[in-house]
Amino acid sequence: MMMAEPLHRAGVSGALTEHEPMARHVTWRAGGAARYAFRPADRPDLIAFFQIHRALLERYPPLFVGLGSNLLVRDRGIAATAIFTHPGLQGLRIAEATPEAMTIVAEAGVAAPKLARYAANHGLEGAEFLAGIPGTVGGALTMNAGCYGSETWEHVTGAELIVSDGDVALHGPAAFDIGYRHVATNFAMLGREAWFISGQFRFRRGNGQRARDRIRELLSKRVATQPLQLPNAGSVFRNPPGDHAARLIESCGLKGLAIGGASVSEKHANFIVNTAGRASAAEIEQLIARVRAVVAERTGVLLEPEVRIVGETNISSDVKRES
Ligand SMILES: Cc1cc2nc3c(=O)[nH]c(=O)nc-3n(C[C@H](O)[C@H](O)[C@H](O)COP(=O)(O)OP(=O)(O)OC[C@H]3O[C@@H](n4cnc5c(N)ncnc54)[C@H](O)[C@@H]3O)c2cc1C
Repeated sequence: MMMAEPLHRAGVSGALTEHEPMARHVTWRAGGAARYAFRPADRPDLIAFFQIHRALLERYPPLFVGLGSNLLVRDRGIAATAIFTHPGLQGLRIAEATPEAMTIVAEAGVAAPKLARYAANHGLEGAEFLAGIPGTVGGALTMNAGCYGSETWEHVTGAELIVSDGDVALHGPAAFDIGYRHVATNFAMLGREAWFISGQFRFRRGNGQRARDRIRELLSKRVATQPLQLPNAGSVFRNPPGDHAARLIESCGLKGLAIGGASVSEKHANFIVNTAGRASAAEIEQLIARVRAVVAERTGVLLEPEVRIVGETNISSDVKRES
């Protein structure tokens, strides 16, 4: 369906669109449309949208989207309102400075690499790992994104959440159940679904030049080991305890396995690439299911997906059999 002109909505300045093609907004460059999409102009605009347009959000619940680097919307689309945090929620500032450390407040739409560079440029160390994660602060908070031995929530001292009626509250880490590539709001405390609009991060004072050098080093490691020139969503599966998903997939000889336009990367076995930019979400999802089934059969390890797949299911019976 063609995308309509932005709809003008009372009380907000951000654009609301219908039938937003989500392939444009996810790094896999595949998949279907969101029924509605809203691009808040800034944080007050997002809050106003939640407060004023509750009926729309009840019918088409929010799907927060950062840079879409861990997300796939199925081909038949999703009955949701995609909320694009980038670039409207771009606030980034030092909130507190002590002789040992500084606290940075970053809004959800700030790119994680931008936060890493901002910290380094303020003479802080510890944020370098974020430079290679091609998502937003909101995505990093949601996924507890991490690499090279560091994780997002090791540095979080608080996070602001918005709930469906537009109320916003700041919560400390105790309000969250935090694990490996997993964060759940502690519903007993919050009582309802909530989304991140900003995070507070504490990094220690150190040597900014050393942090910038480390960023450069980590980025070149990625270029050497990841298929960054093809559309992908990073690691498809979580690493199982004590092992690496990539090692298991490679040991089953699955590098290069393809379904339609989707294939297991030859460069990194835990990446699925949209080889010619024409894969459907169904092909990607079918390939994920096949890799999972083969690895389970041959190694006894059932890999758990790290990528988030949402929307109307259109999975074929072939995949159902295998998963
Ligand atoms: C080349 C490449 C390399 C990668 N390397 C790593 C890595 O080293 N480590 C790692 O952990 N990940 C890695 N990833 C995966 C991905 O970058 C991270 O998971 C990232 O944190 C996702 O951020 P995003 O803004 O793109 O989130 P999106 O993909 O837009 O969203 C991911 C999920 O978070 C939800 N979400 C997004 N924003 C919010 C919000 N504000 N509030 C509530 N929910 C929200 C979405 O609804 C969705 O469920 C990689 C991806 C790619 C493409």
